[in-house]
Amino acid sequence: MSALVKRRILVVDDDEGVRDVFTLMLREKGYEVATAENGFDALLKLKGVVIPDVIISDLNMPEMSGFELLSVVRRRFPKISVIASSGAYGSRAVPTGVLADAFYAKGEDHPEALLNSVASLIETSAEQATAHESASAPVWIPRNGKDSNGIPYIVITCTECLRSFPLNVRTEENPEVLETPCPFCSSTVKYIIDFSLSVFSPAKAEPTPVISRKDKAA
Ligand SMILES: [Zn+2]
Repeated sequence: MSALVKRRILVVDDDEGVRDVFTLMLREKGYEVATAENGFDALLKLKGVVIPDVIISDLNMPEMSGFELLSVVRRRFPKISVIASSGAYGSRAVPTGVLADAFYAKGEDHPEALLNSVASLIETSAEQATAHESASAPVWIPRNGKDSNGIPYIVITCTECLRSFPLNVRTEENPEVLETPCPFCSSTVKYIIDFSLSVFSPAKAEPTPVISRKDKAA
């Protein structure tokens, strides 16, 4: 591939200010930049003819969180390298269960660190793609709440047909990879239920979660 080919980056963040800053920074380095406001918006952009080399995605967004987006990307677009970006974690390592190649701690890491991650992922893109293709990526699901009968449920987005369906959660175990058939296309969807509050996107959070009741098993 020619060095003159412009590398493409897709920036996914619900915060317009963050999108603008990242876009400016990346364009200055010669990258072609597209943006999306949430996971669904990003998936729509990925239906276009031009597939980005790297996606930089926030984790907590309304409509579709970065957790869900990244697991769909890993399954459907294994050639794309991904940087998860969030201000909600203290550590600089990729948080457990997040399907990303690198992590950027918003508000803590120097912007230069983000540019370095982008450059090194592009440099090693062939190895990244091989590693992604050999792994079967589970879907990361935030716990959504309780249905009208008081039974906890989650909403799963099928990684093959991209349709969503609710599923009741009977046990609240530690995060582990579970499986369920998609009712629409009957492919097997792997998922991890995340019970931590940190991944609740504002649109999905229950109005006033009763924490003591939810955590009684712990
Ligand atoms: Zn399906």
